Amino acid sequence: MLKAVYPGSFDPVTNGHLDIIERCAGFVDELVVAVLDNPSKSSLFTADERVEHIKKETAHLPNVSVRSFHGLLVDFCRLEKARLVIRGLRAVTDFEYEFKMALANRKLDKDIETIFVSSSANYMFVSSSSIKEIAMFGGCVEDMVPENVKNCLYEKFKNREENIHGFNN
Ligand code: ADP
Repeated sequence: MLKAVYPGSFDPVTNGHLDIIERCAGFVDELVVAVLDNPSKSSLFTADERVEHIKKETAHLPNVSVRSFHGLLVDFCRLEKARLVIRGLRAVTDFEYEFKMALANRKLDKDIETIFVSSSANYMFVSSSSIKEIAMFGGCVEDMVPENVKNCLYEKFKNREENIHGFNN
């Protein structure tokens, strides 16, 4: 049985991530989407919120599960008894970072293999960070994130703005 882990921050999950999840769910028996819960890395959404977003969007995929993890990815893979790690690649610029991570993980556990799945052309320029920036200024993120995530983004920034104004007044 081929079980794979797709790790990431997913802050928030984008249509680019979901495209990778759907495509990989088609060729592995089981896919665990692993949401990194790193308290020292600031994120817009909590790990629980990020897990919920992905669960909602992958409910139609019976072989996909979503969990949060902290600590080393290789430890999480061992716990899940998964030997395959999936990472997405958008452009050459992703490559160096991803390659270094794959090498580091292989050094930590030689039995864990990383494979790279290329982004679909439509999502090459979609990233969680650019989506947050666009949404923060009220720009349109339609087609880049699912409807529910879009609404949660606007809600988050609306609350933040209200808080900032609250402080100023
Ligand atoms: P991380 O902080 O671990 O890079 P991300 O949530 O940004 O987490 O990304 C998780 C994985 O998904 C990474 O391998 C990243 O390269 C990939 N990825 C991000 N956006 C896209 C996209 N639009 N298309 C394909 N892969 C993507």
